[in-house]
Amino acid sequence: MAESMQGLHRTCRCAEVTKEMIGSEVTLMGWVQKARNKGGLVFVDLRDRSGIMQLIFENGSIDEEGFEKAGHLRSEFVIAVTGIVEKRGGAVNENLATGEIELRVKALRVLSEAEVPPFPIEENSKTKDEIRLKYRYLDLRRPDLQRNMMLKSQVAMLTRQFFAKEGFLEIETPMLGKSTPEGARDYLVPSRVHPGSFYGLPQSPQLYKQLLMCSGYDRYIQIARCFRDEDLRADRQPEFTQIDMELSFVDVDDVIDVNERYLAFLFKEVLGVEVKLPIQRITWQEAMDRFGSDKPDMRFGMELHDVSEIVKHCGFSVFTGALENGGSVRGINAEGQGAMPRKKIDKLVEFAKGYGAKGLAYIAIAEDGTRKSSFAKFMTEEEMDALVAAMDGKPGDLLLFAADKKKLVYDVLGALRLELAKQMDILDKNEYCFAWVTEFPLLEWNEEENRYTAMHHPFTMLMEEDLPLLETDPGKVRAKAYDIVLNGNEIGGGSVRIHQNDIQEKMFEALGFTKEAAYEQFGFLLDAFKYGVPPHAGLAYGLDRLVMLMAKVDSIRDVIAFPKVKDASCLMTKAPQPVDDVQLRELGLDVCEEDEEVQ
Ligand code: ASP
Repeated sequence: MAESMQGLHRTCRCAEVTKEMIGSEVTLMGWVQKARNKGGLVFVDLRDRSGIMQLIFENGSIDEEGFEKAGHLRSEFVIAVTGIVEKRGGAVNENLATGEIELRVKALRVLSEAEVPPFPIEENSKTKDEIRLKYRYLDLRRPDLQRNMMLKSQVAMLTRQFFAKEGFLEIETPMLGKSTPEGARDYLVPSRVHPGSFYGLPQSPQLYKQLLMCSGYDRYIQIARCFRDEDLRADRQPEFTQIDMELSFVDVDDVIDVNERYLAFLFKEVLGVEVKLPIQRITWQEAMDRFGSDKPDMRFGMELHDVSEIVKHCGFSVFTGALENGGSVRGINAEGQGAMPRKKIDKLVEFAKGYGAKGLAYIAIAEDGTRKSSFAKFMTEEEMDALVAAMDGKPGDLLLFAADKKKLVYDVLGALRLELAKQMDILDKNEYCFAWVTEFPLLEWNEEENRYTAMHHPFTMLMEEDLPLLETDPGKVRAKAYDIVLNGNEIGGGSVRIHQNDIQEKMFEALGFTKEAAYEQFGFLLDAFKYGVPPHAGLAYGLDRLVMLMAKVDSIRDVIAFPKVKDASCLMTKAPQPVDDVQLRELGLDVCEEDEEVQ
């Protein structure tokens, strides 16, 4: 039977008991990790979010009734105990912070009994994800998840502390806003009061934070929940948290400066890691050319080489064909991988095909300098020599080439580079390699819509020197946009915003927006800009991703208390769910059958 806590006060958490407290009385409360009944003695590991404390129940130290109760304790019972801290009688447990001590219990209360949980509550669970997520409240009891949640809380707290000191104000922006698709689909919320009208949940507080700058709150920060109704990829969540900021009277360097100091502070406080400042900067173009990615993992080299010039006139039509179509031929040198078995190389070719490549050409150089290649028969000896030299190929190296449209070549080799690094096991999780990627293209060509779209968003400022290009060669215009990258992950991004009406108009023109359409969507922002707008810029971090990297875990779910699965559903609550007709009627909504044609 469950007893009450009445009169008992927890004095501290399990792992807060120290050797120095030997001889003193403490009251602990928590969950039974395991209980071992050894005849005259009962040992219990008591767990709370701080860790474990060994309890010892001995007939005589505790009264008869208490000892009897102790004999019936089972895993996950919630208990309260009062006792005296002692040096451990048995062997010291070096894996535990409290491994040298134990608590000799004088009084026990069983606060709640527990059924046998569907999986053991322990570190590094082998339990299937579906079961863990269905019983998330039990999963969250596991020490590794508890550490992640505590880490996230610490990051949020330190973030607020840092930015408050820097003069930032924390201001909330609405969840129920106007639907303004920013690339992804909006989640919509029907209005009961305005049947047929909908709010959009924010994809980010972008427009509000710019309005706050117009209102004079020159440094804003918010730990903001955002929603994106995207086709879910494995490691995406429909709702996630951003550390969102905006600053007035600043340019790129100012935003970078305060954020570098923030990252150095955060990593020092949380992980004891020194971030060397200034953080290296690399332009988008250089990142693509060298690493095939706009979020380069710069913990290792294996950079891309452009060999287009070298193979321009060679006999291999895959290369020359790609070049004739305006494409590019590039390669990477997987040093020391020259002896890779053919089967493994074939797997790499399949991997490249997964990224859209038609194939992958290779040269494997044996230790004695002899070469095996998929395309040697189309090349002269001199052409091969020149190619190997251009790739810095040495005995024992494996050279891999992609030939196609430039973007595809970047994608394929960028991904291949990472895959090889994984296979070669050269990625050090304890190394934190930051980089700013700057000067992103302002626009990207959208094949489907047959028009340019903004790479960041339509309010991103361009580099002043590129202004004339906006009308003549929009694809070449560089933006004052920057991403902060950590070990190949984009952890944040932002930009300087356009605050001049004439430039904003040109931007809308380049995006194929009429003035009316622009006003329809963003009129309130454009109007606000008429009444005095400071130059401003901002940035947002993905908090979940940042914490995931700091916690060195592989899944974003492990740093979110109640995550959703790939199809955006919650396995615990079973959301989303149909609602009853009354609710629908109130909202003026009707749900059509799945096979009913939507007009
Ligand atoms: N709102 C942007 C985003 O969510 C960040 C920014 O530009 O500040 O990516």
